[in-house]
Amino acid sequence: MQIRQLPDTLINQIAAGEVVERPASVVKELVENALDAGALRIDIDLEEGGIRLIRIRDDGGGIAPEELPLAVARHATSKIASLDDLEAVATLGFRGEALPSIASVSRFSLSSRRAGDEHGSTLRVEGGKLGEITPKAQAPGTTVEVRELFYNVPARRKFLRAERTELSHIEEWLRSLALARPDVELRVSHNGRPSRRYKPDLLDASLRLNETLGEDFARQALCVEHAAAGLRLHGWIALPSYSRASADQQYLYVNGRAVRDRNIAHAVKMAYQDVLFHGRQPAYVLFLEIDPLRVDVNVHPAKHEVRFRDTRLVHDFVYRTLQDALAETRAGAIAAATQGAADRAQYPGAAAGFGSPRPWSPTQQSPLGLSVGEAPAAYAALYSQSGASQAFSPDVVSPQVFASQSPEQRLPTSSDASIPPLGYAIAQLHGIYILAENADGLIVVDMHAAHERIGYEKLKSAHDGIGLHSQPLLVPFNLAVAEREAEVAEREAETLAALGFDVTRSGPQSLSVRSVPALLAQAEPEGLLRDVLTDLREHGETRRIAAARDELLSTMACHGAVRANRRLTIPEMNALLREMEITERSGQCNHGRPTWARFSLAEIDRWFMRGR
Ligand code: ADP
Ligand code: MG
Repeated sequence: MQIRQLPDTLINQIAAGEVVERPASVVKELVENALDAGALRIDIDLEEGGIRLIRIRDDGGGIAPEELPLAVARHATSKIASLDDLEAVATLGFRGEALPSIASVSRFSLSSRRAGDEHGSTLRVEGGKLGEITPKAQAPGTTVEVRELFYNVPARRKFLRAERTELSHIEEWLRSLALARPDVELRVSHNGRPSRRYKPDLLDASLRLNETLGEDFARQALCVEHAAAGLRLHGWIALPSYSRASADQQYLYVNGRAVRDRNIAHAVKMAYQDVLFHGRQPAYVLFLEIDPLRVDVNVHPAKHEVRFRDTRLVHDFVYRTLQDALAETRAGAIAAATQGAADRAQYPGAAAGFGSPRPWSPTQQSPLGLSVGEAPAAYAALYSQSGASQAFSPDVVSPQVFASQSPEQRLPTSSDASIPPLGYAIAQLHGIYILAENADGLIVVDMHAAHERIGYEKLKSAHDGIGLHSQPLLVPFNLAVAEREAEVAEREAETLAALGFDVTRSGPQSLSVRSVPALLAQAEPEGLLRDVLTDLREHGETRRIAAARDELLSTMACHGAVRANRRLTIPEMNALLREMEITERSGQCNHGRPTWARFSLAEIDRWFMRGR
């Protein structure tokens, strides 16, 4: 084929491929334009999830009538004029691509009136073709109307999802914008009905936090504010006890722009490392302010990403700031723990991430120490004959220890038929491990992990057979949730019922819970339901039901499992060991960690260089 210059409309449609993925991206670009124009109130009218109509009206500075065609021309912008401007850009937009791209794939109109103008003017664009500029009665500000998105690009239209899904993507974007600009009023209507209103909130940004992420987050959030080395980090991070099953409440802004950044996400993760159970996700809303010259915002067409000049510095700054903030809560918890061990589950971190067995690093662990039950002779011998303590040097111990933790563990075969494979419990160590003696040596069981695995297998077979029984609650309870969680609960009522939950929506941000899965009636149902809703929202429509079900059941099992630091009696420990022996795959917990390890007497002898 001959080489030819592509027509403008086609160029714009190609660009639209990057900038306009779905209605939510249109809303994002248009609301950002309104904010750049200084708007303090933005009205967003949607029809059919934004597919049929997106109309955004703002009270910002407006556009001169003669500049309307320029606004929809490619690479035309009022926000930068030179490379220097680009490097110091403080507006959300700067590429001059959004309006022409959107106009090339929709039936589009742009109307505007500046404060001094006598009346407004409108320009229509149909599939990229400009119409006449005509006068229009309107209040100062700008209105952009986008009808029938992708009407002329069937391939893209096919990728649009159901109305509700597209709407929830829009709502997610608005939530993120709303968090960044509590001073701006946002009103949303869907199919002619008002659906959301973020009131302007100048004095107390935490009101906006309530409106967007729900009361529960707001109540359990630590306020962060720290500046150093020309960087400033402020916002909120959730206490470890409010951890989530997924990364769905992680909002990061760099100079007011919502971005995803692996480097910063990693710094946050590191800061939470000691206090969050493996697999759990922290929740946060963080704003990083940095000299625009030290960050490049022009690395992604939809501006989702940025590049820092000094990645290391930013990483360390975020890490240290958050670690310090979290350390304060931890210091409080440790002080409390040494006062009264029985209450420990109450403190942030001790109950960290529902079902977390090890919120603290071992050095900060339980002041309980070893609890010895009816120590049998061999066990006593282990200590009395232990001899030279230098044998505990790590290089002597580690090879055997790791060799004993192969990923596919088989139950040990016992040389003495009267002793069960996992042996008999002799003690509990630091509220975490069960020590048991079997015919060959020592068995160490991670009691939370083991219990979790057993619970999971039980739940699975119960679910396979008949569906889970649900147990009515004597006193139904109300659960405060974020609005989109309430929506998931409403939409997925049947799935929840199959899992044993009877949940109805009792308000925009609350659910009423009447029954819970019988097998888990003893577990803390609130956190469980919250995680189940998150799982459902994340996987509800993309993952196969069975896989999602296993994940749900695994989440549920984790809640049902015995918590760390619960003292078990010797008979309780033995009961757990016996259950492990009959449960499928009990060698691993649901998170893929091993549930037990074995140390044969021969191995232990080697630690102490016996028999050489
Ligand atoms: P960019 O935002 O990158 O400049 P856009 O295509 O989004 O590019 O917008 C082009 C131009 O149209 C903007 O630079 C701005 O001057 C003008 N404009 C767009 N939306 C508005 C609005 N809501 N209010 C005032 N001016 C606007
Ligand atoms: Mg723009």
